[in-house]
Amino acid sequence: MNPYTIFSEIIAGSAPASKVYEDADVLAFMDIRPVTPGHVLVIPKVVARSLAELDPALGGKLFQVGQRVAAALRDSEVACDGVNFFLADGVTAGQEVFHVHLHVIPRTPGDGFGLRARPTSPARADLDYLAGSIGGSLSRNAGFDS
Ligand code: AMP
Repeated sequence: MNPYTIFSEIIAGSAPASKVYEDADVLAFMDIRPVTPGHVLVIPKVVARSLAELDPALGGKLFQVGQRVAAALRDSEVACDGVNFFLADGVTAGQEVFHVHLHVIPRTPGDGFGLRARPTSPARADLDYLAGSIGGSLSRNAGFDS
């Protein structure tokens, strides 16, 4: 499968982008279809189609740059009373561009952005069971041992 997307073209400079920030590892630019004005995407410069393909150190850097962009949004001319981070990993999660990207979304009251969900109220035993399953998986993954 071709690992290159429109974001590879943006990184290469062969497609246009309104850049916010750039360093050796990370690029941040304006989303072309913002869900609120000032919506920014933060991407790694290396191709990683999914979180599983992304070097965790680079994932940390994406978050760091996202934090800085969030602070900059609050300090800029963008209307910004709050910020949401959003990352879609996989088709079912809503991923459309298969190059990992962190959405940094400035929020104002009544801006219309939201996540639809149906929260439930599971018993503690069910939470404990799933925590054990997830924790067991984490401890089998040496890269994420604490
Ligand atoms: P996702 O659904 O999380 O994969 O989001 C993909 C995002 O990329 C969407 O918000 C798109 O509007 C945005 N997008 C797609 N192409 C471009 C582009 N050429 N420049 C900026 N943003 C883009």
